[in-house]
Amino acid sequence: MWKRLFRALGIDTRQSEYSFERDPRVGHISSSRIADTWVKTTCGYCSVGCGMLVGVKDNKAVTVRGNPDHPVNLGKLCPKGLSEHHILDAPGRAKQPLLRKDGKLVPVSWDEALTVMLEKISAVQQKYGNDALGVISTGQLVTEEFYTLGKLVQLGFRSRNYDGNTTLCMASAVSGYKLSFGSDGPPGSYADMETADVILLIGANIADNHPILCQRIERNRQRNPNTTVIVVDPRVTKTAMMADVHLPIKPRSDIALLNGIAHLLIRNGLIDREYIDQHTTGFEEFANFVADFTPQHVAEVTGLSEETILNTAYLYGKANASFIGWTMGVNHSTQGAATVTAINNLALITGNIGRAGSAPFSITGQCNAMGSRESSFTSALPGYRKFEKAEDREDLARIWNIGADRIPTSRGLAYPDIIEAAVAGKVKALWFIATNPAVSFPNYALLKQALESVDFLVVQDGFHPTPTSEFAHLVLPAAIWGEKEGTYTNSERRVSKVNAIVTPPGLARTDFDIFLDIAHRLGVCDELYPDWSSTHEAFQEWQRVSEGRMCDYSKFNWQQLEDEGGAQWGGERLYLDGIFPTDTGKATLHSVPCLPFVEQPNAEYNLIFNTGRTVEHWHTRTKTAEVKMLDSMVPNAWLEMNPLDAAELELRPHDRVNVVSRRSTVRNVELRITGIVAPGQVFMPFHFAETNSNLATLGAFDPISREPNFKQCAVRVEKFLKTLK
Ligand code: SF4
Repeated sequence: MWKRLFRALGIDTRQSEYSFERDPRVGHISSSRIADTWVKTTCGYCSVGCGMLVGVKDNKAVTVRGNPDHPVNLGKLCPKGLSEHHILDAPGRAKQPLLRKDGKLVPVSWDEALTVMLEKISAVQQKYGNDALGVISTGQLVTEEFYTLGKLVQLGFRSRNYDGNTTLCMASAVSGYKLSFGSDGPPGSYADMETADVILLIGANIADNHPILCQRIERNRQRNPNTTVIVVDPRVTKTAMMADVHLPIKPRSDIALLNGIAHLLIRNGLIDREYIDQHTTGFEEFANFVADFTPQHVAEVTGLSEETILNTAYLYGKANASFIGWTMGVNHSTQGAATVTAINNLALITGNIGRAGSAPFSITGQCNAMGSRESSFTSALPGYRKFEKAEDREDLARIWNIGADRIPTSRGLAYPDIIEAAVAGKVKALWFIATNPAVSFPNYALLKQALESVDFLVVQDGFHPTPTSEFAHLVLPAAIWGEKEGTYTNSERRVSKVNAIVTPPGLARTDFDIFLDIAHRLGVCDELYPDWSSTHEAFQEWQRVSEGRMCDYSKFNWQQLEDEGGAQWGGERLYLDGIFPTDTGKATLHSVPCLPFVEQPNAEYNLIFNTGRTVEHWHTRTKTAEVKMLDSMVPNAWLEMNPLDAAELELRPHDRVNVVSRRSTVRNVELRITGIVAPGQVFMPFHFAETNSNLATLGAFDPISREPNFKQCAVRVEKFLKTLK
């Protein structure tokens, strides 16, 4: 009040905010941002895994800087990382358990919250069976929490229906690696992006989604001005603008391009016959299969010229070291896993694997999607063990001192199938942890039906309200990045230390503490987590479980990880000796056809709808909408449309439009008319709950990985007309 009065009188009340001092570490800085202590940690957004230092003053994170000694980012951070400390005291944080009573979420104690949760889940499981509980986790927890949660769901609650939102993101990469090499595990490193002679990025807009990786390409170009960067993407993304060659292929024609390159490599002798003979199976069948992918045929399917296809094949085949990176443009497809095998084929027939600069490399999405893949009991048993392999189950049972019959012999339902089972009344209780499906899941209408169908819905999150928590019967407030300790694994298999910077707000607790409390109430704590009191005990057990496996954590400890900027399990590169974890020791070449995407445009829905991200935001904006700097840079969604289509529809820049699909309509979106998208295609970022692109997207999934086809469906665009009330 007095401040307002002083300001009205022209007296400066914000002097303290404008004063600067000299900080020994960062130089001149606002006095309010001078830290008492600095905590080393790892960024909690994307899978690049940048090391950072967070400055703390009076239990408040006041500043962030890149850790100059961390090998991943050498002191650099992107806008999200640079502002990450602001999420810790954001107004939207969940601080108290909330239970729905008489239709309203009301504050309750932890004791009441967890007592009711266990009563409801127990009632559902007694009536409908153990698998009537579905649990969806995330790529945001620390590995130690994934490991703890996997045991809790599968051995404590005895439900097999446990998956993560990583299925919306990386499942196709996992399936593709397993199909080709016999195991998950990205074979290369970021260092390969610095030494490759050719970098082929397919469906990977790293400039927006993994921005710090761009400096690897810059360093490569400084080393070798002849390095060629090829970007395959239907859109002229920021990454395409950095490329030497941009291949604007027709949506979902990437398999044809990859098969066509393979055909040309074989036809022109640009293959490594010795490597193929010693380390792969299926070459003859594969060579026969891709013979049909002539430049003429591939040109018709992809829309590229024959000359471009030939040129790309020669560039890739003649390089000493060729690197292929991909992300969601490949994975977000009903043919995602098949496309990954087509990428792996190219690397295998040219021997571009297990050597410096050479790798088929999936760039992961979330900060710890990899940790979830390694430890968490979703698509595989911990340590990349297989559900169906008795030896693997017995091995785990021995370490855990339990009967092997307690361990499931097959995986339960994947994420989309859990949602469908909820709609069908087979899954009756759902527990979401650190994920916001009401924005991130395709086909919102189906998801909403699932959330409204179950008897009991628990949402455990660091933020409330979120579009998902608003449906909940119970909201459990959880700690987030900066409030917990453990490890994250990045895309290059680098395990980095994550540290607590401040204490969680209000009554929020770490996910680990919540899991242990639930286990205690369930009566399984002593059996599953003997003498555990912190994530460090979970890490130590995980070290024993992973020892001797591909993802072996037994070789390093937390202190080493913190001091040395992390460590890569498996070393810098996998498969140095060309021996793969298959029955024959050889990798498999797969012959995969290129199929048209599921929902083709027609006269009524004439445009192909593509979705993606922007650098300023993270997933469904539960975090980044709370960071003023990021949100004011990009406060709302937009739709990109080619000038030819806009002219036909008589639309002008910044008109408000509706995006109409067979499922629903995304209303009142800002139109951007731009040559970034080709005629016949439109693009929209998926981050925004208010204009949720997943109202329009299709509920179609990869039959192998169960990953959604977020990238193509048919829509039409109409001018938004305000209705008068
Ligand atoms: S690139 Fe990814 S890991 Fe690095 S600062 Fe940005 S969001 Fe964080």
